[in-house]
Amino acid sequence: MANTCIVCSQPSGSGEHVFPAALGGRRTNKNIYCTTHDNGYSSLVADLANQFDVFNAHLGVVPDHSDDVKSVIARDAHTGQELRLSVKESSFTAPRVISQKEVGNGVLMNMAFPNREALQEWLAEQKAKGIDVAPLQKAQERPYFLDSVHHQRRFGGLCGLGAVAYVAQTFLAQAFPELARSGDVAQFIAYTQAIAKLAQIRGGCGDTQDDPTDPKLEAARQAYEAALAPWGGQQPVWWDFNPQPDARPNAFEFGHRVTVGVDGADGQIFGRFSLFSSIHFGMCFGMASAGVETKTMTIDIDPMAAHPPNDIKKVETSTAIARVAVPTQPIAGLAAAISSGSQESVFTDLISKIEAHSLGKAAAKMHAELAAYSGLSELEGEQLVNRLIDGQAQRVLNLAKWVLQNFKPRLPTEVLPTLGSMIDAMTAHDPSSTNGLSPMANATLALAKGALAAQVREDLEAGRLDERRLAALIGEGPGAAVVGQAVLGPLVQTLRD
Ligand SMILES: [Zn+2]
Repeated sequence: MANTCIVCSQPSGSGEHVFPAALGGRRTNKNIYCTTHDNGYSSLVADLANQFDVFNAHLGVVPDHSDDVKSVIARDAHTGQELRLSVKESSFTAPRVISQKEVGNGVLMNMAFPNREALQEWLAEQKAKGIDVAPLQKAQERPYFLDSVHHQRRFGGLCGLGAVAYVAQTFLAQAFPELARSGDVAQFIAYTQAIAKLAQIRGGCGDTQDDPTDPKLEAARQAYEAALAPWGGQQPVWWDFNPQPDARPNAFEFGHRVTVGVDGADGQIFGRFSLFSSIHFGMCFGMASAGVETKTMTIDIDPMAAHPPNDIKKVETSTAIARVAVPTQPIAGLAAAISSGSQESVFTDLISKIEAHSLGKAAAKMHAELAAYSGLSELEGEQLVNRLIDGQAQRVLNLAKWVLQNFKPRLPTEVLPTLGSMIDAMTAHDPSSTNGLSPMANATLALAKGALAAQVREDLEAGRLDERRLAALIGEGPGAAVVGQAVLGPLVQTLRD
């Protein structure tokens, strides 16, 4: 029985990922879907993966079919150009002209390239066009400082929820193979099938205004509406903004969790799904028609584990405490969550958690490199600290900006017009410069880095520089205080005069 597809009862054997590979799932199962029905769900999963790629990129999740960490395309606020961001790097996707001017019968250009290959490629293209390019100096690696980066993402939506339903359905089939084929969850499977077919059609997820409309779209929409009819016209899956407190925290930092179970008391077949331990969904698969034993299976998934066996943790219990209360109006719940800002805060809280995580990792790496400090000469020690602080320059710039922007509202009104604009200029971006910063912002950054480097050396020599202290210095309040003294000093002096 377990070797048949839960959709069509034909032999299974597709070997699909139980948890989507794009989200860091590492396990496959050949007993759930036939190849046709496994492939049928791929557009749906792609939609969900796209929605969460920003988080995956910042966490450094390696998709299962890839050798490299997830990256995401975003737009730089100042140049308007496309950036590729990941936990490892941020770089422009295309060559960038920083400045150009006519010189004699040619053009003198200052350009930036994402990498050396892109430079070679560009040189070859110019040669092919018959344009003579003479490099005036050897290419150098230079940082580019980012201001706010804009990600445009919509979360949830018809297809996002459909994908959540599909993932949990797959786990249900794995944990309860008989129940999944009993017919009691047939209406749920019909729903995920209908939403999967909609996701395969351009515009089916409602994200693009199709012009002209795909002729298949209308029929797929009608089939989808029909599949919702047994559910009272609502999707059997919903956002859960008030998940019940779970006695057991996730086994992994940023772990995902899928819970599937059945309550023998009334037959409810329930599911819950949490992404990154932060974004929660609930669903009802149906009601068991025959007598069943109460059982719940909870699977925690570590998106950052590179491979089995420590990528998942399964716990089976004979309770139904995770059973769900089907909301009477799930759409109203989501609308309320959006208008009250609770959906927004789910994402901003997750981003803060991810930032704290990456700060901790950066501090740990720096701390390990600083172990060599005590054996170095004074000059070498200073160079090591400077190099390490320089490696955190974007964080230092963010600290300086934060300090300055928080200082501004506290200025006496009479000096605000002059000092306010000076403060803005101190961290101004300049897309026509190599590193994206204005000369004044470069000066501010140099002051801030110098002050932090001096503090790091002082702490090292006093024997109080552990990883936590280092993280505090490069990305938290104590670092902001050090940076603040350095960058606000000249301003405070102006106020005294
Ligand atoms: Zn099938």
